[in-house]
This record gives sequence, structure tokens and C-alpha cells, in this order.
Amino acid sequence: MNALLEKIVADCGEYVSQGRVATYIPQLAVADPDKRGIYIVSDSGEEFSAGDCFDRFTMQSVVKPLILMQALMDSGIEKVQALVGVEATGKPFDAFNYSDQALTGAHINPMINTGAIALCTLIAGETYEIKFARLLELARLMAGNPNLEVDESVYLSEKETGSKNRALAYMLKAYGMIYDPVEEILDCYFRTCSILVDCRDLAKIANVFAHHGMNPATGERIFPKEYARYVTATLATCGMYDGSGKFALDVGFPAKSGVGGGIMGVIPKRMGIGVFAPALDKHGNSVAGVHMLMKLNQEMDLSIY
Ligand code: GLU
Repeated sequence: MNALLEKIVADCGEYVSQGRVATYIPQLAVADPDKRGIYIVSDSGEEFSAGDCFDRFTMQSVVKPLILMQALMDSGIEKVQALVGVEATGKPFDAFNYSDQALTGAHINPMINTGAIALCTLIAGETYEIKFARLLELARLMAGNPNLEVDESVYLSEKETGSKNRALAYMLKAYGMIYDPVEEILDCYFRTCSILVDCRDLAKIANVFAHHGMNPATGERIFPKEYARYVTATLATCGMYDGSGKFALDVGFPAKSGVGGGIMGVIPKRMGIGVFAPALDKHGNSVAGVHMLMKLNQEMDLSIY
């Protein structure tokens, strides 16, 4: 298995030049586009890996399923759905051009920025520091890694330059969807995006989703099955930005990507996968990362469809 993964990592090097590392958050621009890694945690707890799988990168949008999960655990399905819908938008993750005159929950979903920013308000906690601490704790628990931390330089870089997210958050406020101070909500959001992980962490987090909230490593239930299905179904339809339909055809399992170059793949009841390769396509998906998952699916028949 490790030999297969090594081959996949090597073969996918040819796709790197088709992508570009993200630059709109200045600190992400320093990433080395040639890095590539993959990590798998299987049902039986076996672990396989190849390439730069222990290089660390920031979660960015890969944290959105965790924001959704924490909001579900703290506020329940009804409140979550009243605030943020579940339909794919078919638009970029930071799109402004809502076609109607008013912005409503039906126009957004948890995997785009507006949805994730709104959901931060449904996390329990007196302050946004406490809400963030709860999210970090969930990430640590799912990854089985108590050392997960924020990359301060990426966090500050996004905080300094995040005008677009500020604009999106003020739009949510203007339409009465959020009430708390925008800067506090965004501070929590920017911190969660800047949590540092490696491919192993992503594979372990994905494996908990794959096992419906049960941590297969410890037998501990972290969240109810009902919520796991909610999040995983959202990943299937919206997890790969406005490339989610093509990803469903080409690869065929729930996944979430981030502009740091990471992707987590959830194979229900079978395994969790983490891949990393920082050069992105026009949607924000890691080009080599998607190809690694595509080849893995061809070899192991992982598509759920
Ligand atoms: N922190 C990034 C942003 O809000 C996350 C985007 C992403 O990974 O899609 O722009």
C-alpha cells in the first residue's frame, strides 16, 4: 500500500504546474508548490502514507466542516438550518453576487465563507475566544493530536488583508443574519482557518466523519451519527467549492478542500484520507491533490456512487 501511495505522489507531480499557490492571503504565497503528501487511516486503524505527509499547512476551508459540526452540537439542526441552508451555490467560496435583493439563509451553505462566518455565531461560548477554543478542542480530539495550534503568521496575514471577508460579514449583518461584532466573529473565523495540520491530522479527522462520529482509534463517540451525516452530505454536494459536481463525477466521495492546499476525503465506513499539495486550480482546489484522490479511487474503487 505504501508503495502504491509513493507512486501516486510521484505520478501527480506532473499536475503541479497546472496550479498556482494562493496569494490573496500573503502568507500563503510562501508555500512550496512542489510539496505533495498523502495519508490514509483505515477502518481497522492501519495507517499508510507517502511524500511530504508530515509537512504542516493551515486548514483554511477544511475547517468549515468542523465549524458546522460544532454549531450543530451547540445549537442543534433546526437553528443551524434556519441560519444557513444546504444547497450548492455554484459560485466561488467568497462570492458576492447573490441574485436576489436580500440575502437569506437559503442563498448560502456551510462550506462557503458567508455560511461558515454565520455559523461561528452558533457556537456556544460567552466570548469569541471561548468559541474558538471549543473549535480547536474539537479539531484536536478528532485528529487525536493535542498539539494542534494556530499559525500566528497566517492568522495575522489574513486578519490584516481580509477585506473581502469583512465585506461578506457586514453583508450578513446588514441582512439581519448575524448580530455580534463583526471583528470578533471574524477573529474566531480567521483563527480557525489558520489551524496548522498535516496529512495525518486530516486523515484522522476524516476518519471520525467516516465512522459517523465514533473515533475508531479509541471507540469514543465524539458526536451523534445524525450530525455526522449532515456534515458528510454537505461535503458531498458543496465540499469542493464550485468544482463539487465534477469532483463527484471524477472521484466520487465526500471531501473538503482549502486554499492552503489540503483536502480531506471521507470514505463512509471505510477510511479517512488527507492529501496536501499547495498549487490550486481556479476554484481553489489543490490540482495535484485532486489527481491523487482520483488515482486512489481508480486503484481502490472508493467512489460511493
Ligand atoms: N481563510 C480563507 C478565506 O476565508 C479560507 C478560504 C478557503 O480555504 O476556501 O478566504
